Amino acid sequence: MKGEIISVGTELLLGQICNTDAQFISQESAEIGIDIYFHTAVGDNRYRLLDVLKIASERSDLIITTGGLGPTEDDLTKETIAQFLNLPMVEYEQAKSRVIEHFHSREMPSSNKKQWLFPEGSKLIPNRNGTASGCIIERDSKIFIVLPGPPNELQPMFKETVEPYLLSKKDKSGVIKSRVLKIFGLSESKTEEMIKDLIERQTNPTIAPLVGKGEVTLRITAKASDNNEALEMIEETEKMIRDRIGEYIYGIDNDTLPLAVGTMLINKNITISIAESCTGGNITNLLTDVSGISRSLILSEVTYSIDAKIKELGICPDVIEQFGAVSHETAMAMAKGIRKKAMSDIGLSVTGIAGPDSVEDKPVGLFYIGISSLYGDKTYEFNSKGNRLWIKNFASLAALNELRK
Ligand code: ATP
Ligand code: MG
Repeated sequence: MKGEIISVGTELLLGQICNTDAQFISQESAEIGIDIYFHTAVGDNRYRLLDVLKIASERSDLIITTGGLGPTEDDLTKETIAQFLNLPMVEYEQAKSRVIEHFHSREMPSSNKKQWLFPEGSKLIPNRNGTASGCIIERDSKIFIVLPGPPNELQPMFKETVEPYLLSKKDKSGVIKSRVLKIFGLSESKTEEMIKDLIERQTNPTIAPLVGKGEVTLRITAKASDNNEALEMIEETEKMIRDRIGEYIYGIDNDTLPLAVGTMLINKNITISIAESCTGGNITNLLTDVSGISRSLILSEVTYSIDAKIKELGICPDVIEQFGAVSHETAMAMAKGIRKKAMSDIGLSVTGIAGPDSVEDKPVGLFYIGISSLYGDKTYEFNSKGNRLWIKNFASLAALNELRK
């Protein structure tokens, strides 16, 4: 089955929102073995939508539209599809009671009436988070699936109704399964270089690298006759990759670096305190996304000024004077200072230059991480490139990543 997505909404074309609906549908479709070949975005305009529907129905068997199901004048997706398929719009009782129930004691604007009109022959897709039901229309061996724009409405509708429907329609020739390996500390090109032969040799499963925010991911995708076989194939490939670059892989699928590190600290009963400078509290912010981290994280301080480093962390002024605030020595003194103050197992620190101006005649992007712990004291130097926000984010992740080791 060849699928494509048409996202309707002028705000997409104006760049006001990102097309996360198309991203979601593509990811979910891949999971259930449906190939999506095209994404199109089109404004809230009947004639341009008709053009796009024509092109789509010539090349695809499955056409999924998003957006334009609301009650307002510019919401015209259903009507345009009905026109395209030459179908009358008819009332659907089930959708009508849903809309009326939604408004119960409040007065319903008359424009909402169009939310219970659908192209004749549609199967409705219930929407538990809004008034706009979606619909499925089968016509001349083509399938049209019509969904609302808001992601909190579209996503459960897709998972609960569309996926089971598509699975029942799909030819039963097999499944496609993916696993994403999350990597930190290796660039995309370095990652590719280290597993180049595997990437080139593998056709099933395939291995696809992708760069994220300071991270790299590798997606392993296997086509197989059933889930178990696909899983075995993925695991075999994953093992080959881990044999080469295992130390850089911190997790899989939806894991995040803060989650991996936070969970490790909690599980090992390790307490930590953090002294941040150039990251401005971001490491702490990321770590506190992990539930249960209060068992590990004792104290965090943003010691941004030199004075604060001296007063709050007890750093000897001579250290900063001699080596500078951005140095191995200051990073170490910060880590020891916060650890002593919090009486934690580990003290972590970061000091660096997020830019755009350089400091102490040192380059933008230079930062030092200090770790003081029962197992010894260590500092690490990094030279990163990017703008201020990028450097702050990267330094935060790099600091968390050092804890993992
Ligand atoms: P509504 O009943 O809210 O009007 P709708 O089905 O008519 O829903 P739109 O009017 O096209 O949908 O979009 C409503 C909102 O949904 C947008 O303002 C945007 O926040 C979100 N949205 C729409 N399309 C997308 C998309 N492709 N990706 C992510 N968000 C989207
Ligand atoms: Mg709308």
